[in-house]
Amino acid sequence: MAQEMICPNCGCSDYPKSITRGSILIEIVLWCCFLVPGLIYSIWRLSSRYKACPECRAPNMIPLDSPRGRKIREGKV
Ligand SMILES: [Zn+2]
Repeated sequence: MAQEMICPNCGCSDYPKSITRGSILIEIVLWCCFLVPGLIYSIWRLSSRYKACPECRAPNMIPLDSPRGRKIREGKV
C-alpha cells in the first residue's frame, strides 16, 4: 500500500512518516473548554498532516521509482 520514497535532502530511502502539526494536548484542552475552536483545531491538524522523511523530517520526499529518485539513489545528484 505505502510506497517507498527517497529523501533528496539526506538520501535516505524509506516509507515516509506521517507528521501531524500541532499538539494533541492543545486539541483536548480546546475540546474540553471550547467546542468550536476544538473542532477548527482538529480540522486544521488533519488538513495540515503531511508525509515527511523519517530521518530529517523534510516534507519533500519523492517516489523511489521516479527518474529523479533513481538518480538520487545512485548518487548522481
Ligand atoms: Zn531526509
